[in-house]
Amino acid sequence: MLGLMQHHDLMISDFLVHAARHRPRAEIVSRLAGGIHRQTWVDTARRARQLARALGRLGVRPGDRVATLAWNNHRHVELYFAISGSGAVVNTVNPRLAPDDIAYILEHAEDGVLFAEADFASLVEQVAGKLPPGLLRQVVFLCDAADLPGIALPAGVAITDYESLIDAETDEYDWPRFDERTASGLCYTSGTTGRPKGVLYTHRSTVLKAMAVNAADAIGLKAADRLMPVVPMFHVNAWSLPYAAAAAGTSLVMPGRFLDGQSLYELIEAEHVTCASGVPTVWLGVLAHIRKTGGRFSTLERMIVGGSACPEALFDAYDELGVTIVHAWGMTESSPIATVATPVPGVDAATARRQRLSQGRVLFGIDLRARRGAEEVPWDGETAGDIELRGHWVTTGYYRMPKGTTEDGWFPTGDVGMIDPDGFVILTDRSKDLIKSGGEWISSIDIENIAVSHPAVAEAAAIAAKHPKWDERPVVIVALKPGASATREELLSVYEGKVARWAVPDDVIFVDELPHGATGKLLKTELRARFANHLIE
Ligand code: ADP
Repeated sequence: MLGLMQHHDLMISDFLVHAARHRPRAEIVSRLAGGIHRQTWVDTARRARQLARALGRLGVRPGDRVATLAWNNHRHVELYFAISGSGAVVNTVNPRLAPDDIAYILEHAEDGVLFAEADFASLVEQVAGKLPPGLLRQVVFLCDAADLPGIALPAGVAITDYESLIDAETDEYDWPRFDERTASGLCYTSGTTGRPKGVLYTHRSTVLKAMAVNAADAIGLKAADRLMPVVPMFHVNAWSLPYAAAAAGTSLVMPGRFLDGQSLYELIEAEHVTCASGVPTVWLGVLAHIRKTGGRFSTLERMIVGGSACPEALFDAYDELGVTIVHAWGMTESSPIATVATPVPGVDAATARRQRLSQGRVLFGIDLRARRGAEEVPWDGETAGDIELRGHWVTTGYYRMPKGTTEDGWFPTGDVGMIDPDGFVILTDRSKDLIKSGGEWISSIDIENIAVSHPAVAEAAAIAAKHPKWDERPVVIVALKPGASATREELLSVYEGKVARWAVPDDVIFVDELPHGATGKLLKTELRARFANHLIE
């Protein structure tokens, strides 16, 4: 027998309708090149309705993918809600990727329309030149007519500016309702193959995730909060925080492209930010600025830190400044927040400390396990296994690729760790061969392929070496061919122009031979054990 309660498909547009109706005075503050811009959630809802109409005029139909190359600001928030809300799919693209990878993503996703910041004009020019003719038909620069960059795009690609686009529309628009399992967002993450892979979110997964994030033992946003998401909106939907903020009626303070320690600190103070989120590297930058200037925080209470392991010293440094770091873990494939390290009662001080520094315990709506081969490892906080996830906002696989879950429906995360008796995850390693520098991925395979393109190199392995500022930096370990010779500088020069500048290894380590396992695969674990501290020793 079915119950009698109302059923409404969960829609992303409902966040916006809710925020505008119930927290009309909450605002979105954006730092733009020209200064601070302010608008309320009411303004945001109105502009998103105009944008939804404009999307229709541009020929965007339900299910179409629409790309963004944008910073954290009010226009990107409007794009999130208007694109998904109208039934299309917002494909947020990371502008820090190499133009080749961006072109790959646009082609793979078949994005016909691209919304881009005016400061990415030359990037857009490069990318558009790499696309098959006819794929991209419209570029909209996120500015007004006066700031429209003068660039030449291939024939058939129209250019306009965002403000003229939406000004031409009224705000009369009813958000459509449809099946909550409809695709809403597409985020590409770098994979072991070197090419980015797409994770396709649904309205349902996004809404449930944002509601779970707002639980008190997760991030628990409040109407009284002023949240500064430093984690980019082009990176896993800024950890879902724009949605969670709309649900809670929280004001957003958006830092745009101004991500250095001084700019962030000044914005936190000027805009009375109470809660912020970002990767450890960002907070190290803010800390360095504070140490130099002797500044204090007057309103900041807590920070959500994740994306890579938060160093112990960072917890302590911010404790001293009266700011609580809350550690969280997840990945693009889990939308991303899977665990948050909020405390449980009844443990001794040493355990409480270990749990606080850990990656955290799961939110309701998700489950996790750790396996070694076919067996689940015990939750003893000592036995490490491959961590797997299952839940409402965990993917089944990648866009236009075969299914990625186990037979019994769990997603292998590629992270290795232990689970303690209270369910806290302590990550120890990564089985996926990727390097994460300042929150951005670098493919070890790309680095290895480029190294072996040098005629003297027999074999190469790229690993993540610990780094005090970037958390991890790539180093490449090479074995030369018998009798061949090459210097560090010669090898590093091979990378010029082939990868983004920040993906060039920090060092080359020469060895006689690289270690291999039984199946002939490189034993990266052994190399990590030997060389992980190479840059800090
Ligand atoms: P995000 O950077 O938003 O977490 P990505 O998909 O880019 O999302 O990266 C996910 C991966 O980053 C995880 O699988 C894990 O390897 C690493 N990671 C994320 N958070 C943490 C954390 N708190 N501690 C250690 N590693 C983390």
